[in-house]
Amino acid sequence: MTALTVTGARLDDAVVGLRAVDGTITELGPGVASQAGDEHLDARGMAICPGLVNGHTHAAMTLLRGYGGDLPLMEWLQTRIWPAEAKLTGEDVYWGTRLACLEMIRSGTTRFWDMYWHQHDVARAVLDAGIRSTVGQPILEFDGAPEGARPQDASEGLARLRDEFGSRITGSLSPHAIYTVSEDALRLVADLSAAHDAPIHIHLAETRQEVTDCVAAHGCRPVEYLDRLGALHERTIIAHGVWLEPDELALVAERGATIVTNPSSNMKLAVGRAFPYPHARDAGVAIGLGTDGAASNNALDLLAEIKALALLQKHASGDPAMLPAPDAWDIVTGRHAPALGATPLEVGEPCDFLLVDMERPELVPAPFLDAAVYSGAGPSVDTVVVDGRVLMRDRHVEGVPEVLARVRETAERVRR
Ligand SMILES: [Zn+2]
Repeated sequence: MTALTVTGARLDDAVVGLRAVDGTITELGPGVASQAGDEHLDARGMAICPGLVNGHTHAAMTLLRGYGGDLPLMEWLQTRIWPAEAKLTGEDVYWGTRLACLEMIRSGTTRFWDMYWHQHDVARAVLDAGIRSTVGQPILEFDGAPEGARPQDASEGLARLRDEFGSRITGSLSPHAIYTVSEDALRLVADLSAAHDAPIHIHLAETRQEVTDCVAAHGCRPVEYLDRLGALHERTIIAHGVWLEPDELALVAERGATIVTNPSSNMKLAVGRAFPYPHARDAGVAIGLGTDGAASNNALDLLAEIKALALLQKHASGDPAMLPAPDAWDIVTGRHAPALGATPLEVGEPCDFLLVDMERPELVPAPFLDAAVYSGAGPSVDTVVVDGRVLMRDRHVEGVPEVLARVRETAERVRR
């Protein structure tokens, strides 16, 4: 048996402790005491809170961070990203993902949704880093697409993820987008999603051009198109949704699908408008937050991202009361979108949590939620625990020099 005890932490207005045995929270509240043999964390001066959930990223794109910056989306993909990605091996992806996990741990993310090549190497990296992920091999149809990119390959990939990687890793079907995957392939994805009870993770309505092209090719807008193919349901995770209209958002809500918004990536790639959060909220859509890949953000810091989202929505609506801190906090912790699989901070749940250092000057003397959303950033997080295992304490994470060296080596080769 291994046990972990936390004492002296702030939760809302109380001082609490937490005890976990073999990775499950057994006690949470005032008066929890450390027992002989427990690993003990003294959390005086710190707030305890759930881990953050990154609902959309391409972790190994850390390898391409800063490569082809300041280009329009399609030119950036076609002239820089796709040619560079074609050179990546599974081992490269492993180290790129390790760097992403390191950055995510150091900014409080305990679970992320990934879409990237060599999904089993991604899974291996996540397992070694100690956090949680739903990984997905992109399904893409073009000449010279990498091995494993066909929807027919997905069943085998999902089975291997389930059998080899344990409970911290799950799999998804990840058709890249409606403009890179055919109608037949999307129908097959919908069938496989039903057969495996697996999520569908897809980019949708990121640019105005995508919507125009969809209407020209299929006679309807993107959400209706997905719905027609049977690919819009409670297991569907839509990344972006920037150009969705109110009637499409109503259908997304009716089907129980989730939208993950990525404000920094959208602004960096200049997609032309803000995600229509007020309409999505009014329609009752489940909303998550993502960073997107490090090539288009360029950081994976969700505390920076939630501030970007809150400010963008206030600015775009002309309403300072839009997306207040408690609602923003629900989004960044994954509570607003249950399909993202966040771990609640409750007795009986897996032991995942953060300790935020409330003695940091940028957080004093604000109340926790205000501090976390508006003046916090990754470095405000002191301690990260996943599955009862301390992954960062006093901002120290194991194995950093090797990860940095391997990534530098790979990046230099790939960009040459
Ligand atoms: Zn993306």
